[in-house]
Amino acid sequence: MKTIGLLGGMSWESSVGYYQAINKGIKDSLGGLHSAKIAMYSVDFDSIEKLQHYDDWDGTAKILSKAAKNVQNAGADFLLICTNTMHKVVPQIEKAIDIPLLHIADATADVIVKKGIKTVGLLGTAFTMEQDFYKKRLNENYGLNVLIPNVADRKIVHNVIYKELCLGNSLPASKVEYLRIIESLANQGAEAVILGCTEIGMLVNQSDTEITLLDTTYIHAQKAVEWAISK
Ligand code: GLU
Repeated sequence: MKTIGLLGGMSWESSVGYYQAINKGIKDSLGGLHSAKIAMYSVDFDSIEKLQHYDDWDGTAKILSKAAKNVQNAGADFLLICTNTMHKVVPQIEKAIDIPLLHIADATADVIVKKGIKTVGLLGTAFTMEQDFYKKRLNENYGLNVLIPNVADRKIVHNVIYKELCLGNSLPASKVEYLRIIESLANQGAEAVILGCTEIGMLVNQSDTEITLLDTTYIHAQKAVEWAISK
């Protein structure tokens, strides 16, 4: 079994989900007392969040590249960055390491393509929904048409992530809003909606709606399990 490298803490609330999903996936695949071999580095999210909102992405890249190297030095065979947003600095992180990086958008696209879906909705931080690093990859590499909420709804989605979910708070009123926004994306033609932020699964899940939800934390973790047990 390969050692899975996790770059976590963004936020730690969702890193807990990765740890559980990966270990559960290994147990389901190998049985008995099997558990995942994991090398993890968890950053202080306060510094990352401040740099993001000051638009200092080079600053975030410096912290994460160093952390990624530590994960590699701890024996990881490949690396997962446990957040969608910070995939913005994947090119810099990849330069700092020699092990492969399992990109969260690739893992997610794989599931979407297998389901035969062409148009997807995307929820995430404003950075993920509005910038190119994520949507463009889905569009150019997988031919997917990506829909995002309107400006006002993007603000709601973004604020709930940073002001509630990353602090461990899952509020019923926010769940109502998220479900309304998911439904509106489906009404615009989305055949499924990507929960493109690793904390959203704390607020909504498949039992809340008939619209297909693609939880990136779960999908990323499952793909890591596949890589870990592959020859
Ligand atoms: N975990 C979140 C994501 O998947 C947001 C926190 C961050 O900015 O990294 O995008």
